Amino acid sequence: MQDFLFRLSIPVVLSTLFALLLWGLFSATFALLFMLLAMLIVMARHGRQLYKLGQWLNDARPETMPEASGIWDEVFSRLYKMVKQHNQTKQDLAAELHHIEQATAALPEGVVILNEAHRIEWFNTLARQHFNLDVEHDIMQDITYLVRQPEFIDYLHEGDFSEPLLMVPARHDEMTLSIKLIPYGDEKRLLISRDITQFKRIETIRRDFVANVSHELRTPLTVVNGYVENLLDMPDLGQESARRALQLMAEQTRRMANLVADLLTLSRLENEQSPLHEELVDMRALLNEVYQDGQSLSGGRHTLRLEITSTSDLLGSHDELRSAFGNLLSNAIRYTPDKGVISLRWFERDEHLVYSVQDSGIGIAPQHIPRLTERFYRVDRSRSRETGGTGLGLAIVKYIAMRHQAKLEVLSEEGKGSVFSLVFSTKRASS
Ligand code: ADP
Repeated sequence: MQDFLFRLSIPVVLSTLFALLLWGLFSATFALLFMLLAMLIVMARHGRQLYKLGQWLNDARPETMPEASGIWDEVFSRLYKMVKQHNQTKQDLAAELHHIEQATAALPEGVVILNEAHRIEWFNTLARQHFNLDVEHDIMQDITYLVRQPEFIDYLHEGDFSEPLLMVPARHDEMTLSIKLIPYGDEKRLLISRDITQFKRIETIRRDFVANVSHELRTPLTVVNGYVENLLDMPDLGQESARRALQLMAEQTRRMANLVADLLTLSRLENEQSPLHEELVDMRALLNEVYQDGQSLSGGRHTLRLEITSTSDLLGSHDELRSAFGNLLSNAIRYTPDKGVISLRWFERDEHLVYSVQDSGIGIAPQHIPRLTERFYRVDRSRSRETGGTGLGLAIVKYIAMRHQAKLEVLSEEGKGSVFSLVFSTKRASS
């Protein structure tokens, strides 16, 4: 600073000394005139530099900094350093902001920052999708003009944000959002939106499943209950009638037992904690076991064929494969009228190993095929029940296929028959 003042005063001091000299040599008027001229020159030079500074400040960039001399050199060099430092800080802040924006864009939730008047200050990509927001037009807009659902507006104004609001966004009626407002700072609010569509769907599936299981169990239970009450009310019922009633009760309890067994199998297969017990499964032996089971289930009513053209064995769980193969064969038998033909095949097809069951049965109309593996989905309820079906067989097959990275393929024509195939990758093969 001292150096700065010293340099600033040099021209003034020198002019004054020279003026004093002129006064001594000539006259006071001459000295004053000289002094006036010197001061005008000094002021003009400062004025020129000030003008340059003013011009430069309109767009202060280090690379357009004007040339300067004398004391101004010092001023400009300090300004140069300041602008550079300022630019660096700006760059650092921009990088930091970009970093935060990237992090919030990656958040699995939508985030909107609202000011005290509910105007949008900022939002991330997911919030844009959830509320159909537009970066160019919607910043500083009142959110209640853009999200107009009455329940949302009530939630915003009520001020009790302890519970989230569940809402279907406009133009996305298949979506469910869970919305939460978090007050922070100076009356600002963070609006967090989470897409819970999948969660809701699972919840519906779970509720339907419980309702289905209850319904499936209630029917046989009601039948058994009816017979028990009959037997109690009529102690002198003839032996033949009592035997018939007991037979029917046994049939219903078997149905319940089958249902519970299938439910337990499904729950075990669904449980991610129960790993696949892999072993090398002797396919010839397994197919023969399944074939024998089929023969006894059919009781000679159908012609069963077994064709094994691949010598490959399979890496997988013997019990699960037996259950899946058996389920497909038992379906073929149950949905094929007497004298029908059922063929079991184990063969290779384009880098894949295929287990298929072909029947000449009732077949399935195309609209039912995509839904067959849903739990309790049946094309013909009464036929499924009459033949002892639980409605869970193909759901079990699907899970077993998934656990073996296999695919279940269904080809069927109503009235002609069906082919159900399990297609395994040759990665599971061992010849
Ligand atoms: P279910 O115990 O009722 O047989 P599944 O899950 O095994 O249950 O099969 C679901 C539905 O698919 C059956 O109810 C039946 O309508 C149909 N289905 C399965 N296999 C066959 C088949 N081979 N031929 C005709 N329909 C079949």
